[in-house]
Amino acid sequence: MQFIDLQAQYRAYRDEIDAAIHGVLDSSRYINGPQVVALEEALAAFVGVRHAVGFSSGTDSLRATLMAWGIGPGDEVITTPFTFVATAEVIAALGAKPVFVDVDPDTLNLDPRALEAAITPRTRAIVPVSLYGQCADFDAINPIAKRHRLHCLEDACQSLGASSHGRRSGSLTEAAAVSFFPAKPLGCYGDGGMVFTDDADLAGRLRRVREHGQEARYRHAVVGINGRLDTLQAAILLAKLPHFATEITQRQQVAGYYLQHLAGLVRLPVIRPGQVSVFSQFTIRVPDRERVVRVCEAHGVPTAIHYPIPLHHQPVFASGPLALGYGAGDLPVAVQAAREVLSLPMHPFLTADQQDQVVAAIRDAVAGTS
Ligand SMILES: *Cc1c(COP(=O)(O)O)cnc(C)c1O
Repeated sequence: MQFIDLQAQYRAYRDEIDAAIHGVLDSSRYINGPQVVALEEALAAFVGVRHAVGFSSGTDSLRATLMAWGIGPGDEVITTPFTFVATAEVIAALGAKPVFVDVDPDTLNLDPRALEAAITPRTRAIVPVSLYGQCADFDAINPIAKRHRLHCLEDACQSLGASSHGRRSGSLTEAAAVSFFPAKPLGCYGDGGMVFTDDADLAGRLRRVREHGQEARYRHAVVGINGRLDTLQAAILLAKLPHFATEITQRQQVAGYYLQHLAGLVRLPVIRPGQVSVFSQFTIRVPDRERVVRVCEAHGVPTAIHYPIPLHHQPVFASGPLALGYGAGDLPVAVQAAREVLSLPMHPFLTADQQDQVVAAIRDAVAGTS
């Protein structure tokens, strides 16, 4: 059994994907080919926003948005300590200071109740993460951002396809960054990303940042990056897009099966009313994780830990020149979650037998404790 089965996915769509790749090879428009714009338009429509700007990764999507807002040294940007490092890394890479706010104990998304106390006169933006495929609490976060005139960027790298009260992740706030890393809900076959926004001015800035700050050929108005989405990756994503809705449903069916059959055995993901998760991860919480991992291994069930170290304990942010000064007892909900979380196999091609095998492994692991 695979934790995420990319082979099964390729086999299922092989003809369409091969044709898409060969179409790009035949045209040799490797940079800024028409597939990039076609994908931007298709995904803007899917998400329900006016503008989409393709990027070379989720990380570059996040970074370029902060650059487009002019965030840099002296600025503070609030985010969650319980995420992949990229979320905070891009803040620090621009010379700004990441400020961590603890997470909600049920959803493990940024806790809006702790947000306002972290805002200072230097705060410029908030970057909530829609973790594991469930949107962060933008109903609570957006009004706070507005009141304090802060930018708000959804790190939607795990949540493309999720929705909140009927609105898609990516459309819930000023801007959102998505990743097409192969293991994400909509993955390409390399690196890729995209930013979504309704703000035409921001979209224009993002296009300039993406292309070395260029406003006209060889005329560079601002400092940018080489952040373009490859035409080949865009073509692969266009070929996969017609299957995405079905894949989301299949993920939700797997999650539904786990939720039903693991109920009462372990602490399960909490999906809030009005939220539809895309379950980029199905992450349970167990007090004795090492043992559960070993039992799963014995059953041939792969697991993963998202994430074992909260960002304020990461060496890069705990010591050295970028030390942020957090103590061992700070952000306790994130610290506790990092000890307990365990992600189970989750992809659209998990068979019924495989799902049963996962459930049996967890049952066995839990039986061993009592
Ligand atoms: C994957 C991920 C990123 C980074 O995306 P890349 O495409 O790998 O650069 C950023 N934030 C979160 C929450 C992610 O899961």
